[in-house]
Amino acid sequence: MSVIDVHNHFFPETFPDLDRRYGGTDWPAVKRTGPDTATVMLGDKPFRDIDAACWDPTRRLADMDRDGVERQVISATPVLFSYQRKPEHALDFARLMNDTALEICARGQGRLLALAQVPLQDVDAACREAERAMRSGHHGVQIGNHVGPKNLDDDGLVAFLHHCADLGAAVLVHPWDMMERERTAKYMMAWTVGMPAETQLAIVSMILGGAFDRLPRSLRLCFAHGGGSFAFLLGRLENAWHHKDTVRGKSEHPPSHYLDRFSVDSAVFDDRTLKFLVDTMGEDRVLLGSDYPFPLGEQRVGALVRESNYLSDAVKAKIVGANVERFLGVG
Ligand SMILES: [Zn+2]
Repeated sequence: MSVIDVHNHFFPETFPDLDRRYGGTDWPAVKRTGPDTATVMLGDKPFRDIDAACWDPTRRLADMDRDGVERQVISATPVLFSYQRKPEHALDFARLMNDTALEICARGQGRLLALAQVPLQDVDAACREAERAMRSGHHGVQIGNHVGPKNLDDDGLVAFLHHCADLGAAVLVHPWDMMERERTAKYMMAWTVGMPAETQLAIVSMILGGAFDRLPRSLRLCFAHGGGSFAFLLGRLENAWHHKDTVRGKSEHPPSHYLDRFSVDSAVFDDRTLKFLVDTMGEDRVLLGSDYPFPLGEQRVGALVRESNYLSDAVKAKIVGANVERFLGVG
């Protein structure tokens, strides 16, 4: 059975000195803390402890063998997106990261694929880098769910998504730069509360902003973490759409009409939630995603889907294999 994990992250083993390369004091840096461990620094502040799984394909392949994962689609860790920085710096950095991702894939025995990052604050530059990345071997792009105050229904961002559809590039949307950082500062609530809310906001914005009405059906789009809070709150959104004019925005149809326009990954960590997600989105619209190798990811990749008490073997096979292949455009 084909098993492909569409949502997991790499982090490079080394960087050029970005503060020196671009100026500034808060670019990400990697501080080695042991032979297989490092701390990601933002300026002089530790951001996250990481280990060799982030950069070493040998370690990655061993973990994939342990978990029965045939292929992984690696993408950058969202702290690297750099949408808040000067576009020319973000473009140069995206090129560096995208080439690094392909170097990791080249040592992956054909089992590692990659999604590129782009300087989304500059739509023209983002389109050019997406093209370059696709030519050089990437299978699509991973983007953040917003650029500053712009949600994904922004005209420029919709133009970028349209370009991805034209290129045949799969698009994974990952939450980043979470809202309400002061009120979610403790207990990693930016991850447990902020991220699902960001993803829900991205999907709702695209629906009500008419983005799906403007975009071609050929766009292959997937939202991380099961689409965040979206599925559980779809009923609330649907009710509001039917009973208040102002909710409808530019959407031509009720929210539930658009469920066949995007997919979500399976990173929801609960058997009943996964069943609910498959019931809501449909069995063709949920894709295996793990958030490997981070602590908030699935510790045995694919176990939630494979060991589900609710899903048939045929549906499980779709989620871990066929649905991901269709999203990526690979056989
Ligand atoms: Zn992730």
